[in-house]
Amino acid sequence: GKPACECNSCYGGSHCSEFSPDCPADVNSGDPLFLEPFWMEHAMSSAVMLAGWHRMSYRMDDGSTISTELTKHIFQLHAMVGNAVTKGRFIIFGAGSTQLLHAAVHALSQQGSPWPSRVVATIPFYPIYEFQTDLFNSKDFKFQGDTSLWKNASSTNSSMNIIEFVTSPNNPDGRLTKPVLKGPSVKTIHDHAYYWPHFTAIPAPADEDVMIFTISKITGHAGSRFGWALIKDEAVYQKILTYLGLNTIGVSHDTQLRALKLLKVVLKGGGREIFEFGQKTMKSRWERLNKILSASRRFSIQKLEYHNCSYFQKVTEASPAYAWLKCEREEDLDCTAVLRAAGIIGREGTLYHAESRYVRLSLIKGEDDVDLLLQKMDALVSKEEGAQ
Ligand code: PMP
Repeated sequence: GKPACECNSCYGGSHCSEFSPDCPADVNSGDPLFLEPFWMEHAMSSAVMLAGWHRMSYRMDDGSTISTELTKHIFQLHAMVGNAVTKGRFIIFGAGSTQLLHAAVHALSQQGSPWPSRVVATIPFYPIYEFQTDLFNSKDFKFQGDTSLWKNASSTNSSMNIIEFVTSPNNPDGRLTKPVLKGPSVKTIHDHAYYWPHFTAIPAPADEDVMIFTISKITGHAGSRFGWALIKDEAVYQKILTYLGLNTIGVSHDTQLRALKLLKVVLKGGGREIFEFGQKTMKSRWERLNKILSASRRFSIQKLEYHNCSYFQKVTEASPAYAWLKCEREEDLDCTAVLRAAGIIGREGTLYHAESRYVRLSLIKGEDDVDLLLQKMDALVSKEEGAQ
């Protein structure tokens, strides 16, 4: 019959409760809803209430735009997880890490130099690095593609200022990475959005000059738009502060309050509850996908090394945020289309400057999307000739 309500396009029936089997599995975006069940369990302790008169000013009581209480909790979090050295670092908040990624490019580039700083990353890389650098279209920096093109030049040419983005674990393939370029004028921005026990072993605390983190992938609150940067050099810190002062005058105080409330829940009991839940969930998704694909000759996904995790104090198995899937057959050149025809919406590998044989599948979405992905993948693999 005619639905009484406006149903989401994947549901029908009079109560919008009948799932349409034709509905695709949408695993395109990196929306981290896998943590929703954890926050439902902690609905009360993580709730925030703000009186109308509270925090109206541009400034905190001490005149800054950064909550010292939240800073203290972030430092505690890094000490507890063991994923970053905070001693001797300045901290800056941003509207998500997205804002800080570009602020860091600005701060590390040479203003007024006759040659723009070259901004590079290693393929496959997170596309926003390139899109932001191009968008700002500055005289001071220019996106110049893959690090491999600059290996020789960077070590011999001391006047060539290079800014390398290092994403560890990497988006899309989940690998722990190190800078590729070395040389007197190479600066690095370390994007550690996924350097949390949900997604990877934590072999050692990161100890780099510019490290960028976000709550999006640790608590899952991507919509709160909260990230932070740990910066060693005071001049770089000052330049980022100037940038943020002109760009947004700091991060919403409401968001800072919410982040504080969430981190207090995360920190409880040494973080065991959230990290065990997160790691178990991601590992199980990865294992289920691997099991399905072990019967396939047509599709493969990345192999990940096991590392010792200083947080869990054991070697942990892979639990990446994304599957980086490859279509192996000659004729499956457009892998995104192959999956799309089977009801799976992934993200094109070409966005990451990889071949069109690659597709990124998000494993951090809600349970329903991932279950549907596994169902559709299983059906697709079962159709392969000779599949076991
Ligand atoms: N860096 C990487 C590698 C990411 O994958 C993402 C989000 N997908 C971000 C940064 C940006 O996250 P946010 O702005 O939500 O902090």
